[in-house]
Amino acid sequence: MQVNIQHSWELHCHSEFSDGALALSELFHLAVQSGVTSLALTDHDNAEGYRHAVANKLIPEALNLYPAAELSSVWNGRNIHVVGLGMAVESQHWLDVEASYRERRRERLERQVARLKRERFQIEVEQIEARASPGLPGRPHIAEWLVSSGQVKDRPTAFKRWLGRGKAGDVKSTWPELQEAVADITAAGGMAVLAHPHRYKLTRAKTMELLDAFQAAGGLGVEVCCLGMHPNYYRLLLQEVRTRDLYLGGGSDFHSPAMQWTRLGVFPAWPQNVKLVTDWLAGC
Ligand code: AMP
Ligand code: MN
Ligand code: MN
Ligand code: MN
Repeated sequence: MQVNIQHSWELHCHSEFSDGALALSELFHLAVQSGVTSLALTDHDNAEGYRHAVANKLIPEALNLYPAAELSSVWNGRNIHVVGLGMAVESQHWLDVEASYRERRRERLERQVARLKRERFQIEVEQIEARASPGLPGRPHIAEWLVSSGQVKDRPTAFKRWLGRGKAGDVKSTWPELQEAVADITAAGGMAVLAHPHRYKLTRAKTMELLDAFQAAGGLGVEVCCLGMHPNYYRLLLQEVRTRDLYLGGGSDFHSPAMQWTRLGVFPAWPQNVKLVTDWLAGC
């Protein structure tokens, strides 16, 4: 029932303005080549890429680029991502939101470094920041440093042992609550979409609680058409989106051509008889 197809929309992807591998022009070129004509650039915690593309006239004729971002947050002690689509990313409110995330990431990196040093790793902060540039530092950049300096054998091991959920480099407490992330997106005129719910490994009951909290905060959409979702969980989410009258979204969460299991705009086909996030976005 979940068949991956090439969509003309991509609503979840990353560039070098966060932990993606591609520069903006490379990403846009790939989009056009792949038949993606509408793209929401959802870098972690910032929309610098969108502003940069507009200011430098990088957007090809054949591409509609939408302002967007994927915000980090916590709910019930878990790291939850919220995709914001269609915000006014030049507004003072939104620029303040980004500044606060930048500060949180800086503070978080300090704590991550301190914790990893306690595990006897040798860390060069400038090297991590250089890897993240022009974006903000995150766990993938720490993983790259650990691997390239020969301290950990590969990226999966870096996440499994040191950076993944509950490990030394997983500092969550710096993130705002889910409610605040949703409110910031909404206040900037955007639509808040719960990112990749299957990745949080929640039970059915906890999923209901998360959806309740998300909706109560003003969240309007849920990513359902994602790669790697179990069919039972897909059915559960689809049913919830319908009964709760939410918008259904999704995307590939593309980061890099080197990650061969993701391709830009390739993710499960939209189901019938449901409101789509793309309907909302096309009208904005
Ligand atoms: P951060 O924003 O610093 O919390 O880093 C989160 C990012 O790390 C995610 O968006 C993914 O790109 C990547 N990531 C998270 N968990 C894993 C994992 N287990 N293996 C590889 N990459 C991961
Ligand atoms: Mn990422
Ligand atoms: Mn995410
Ligand atoms: Mn993502």
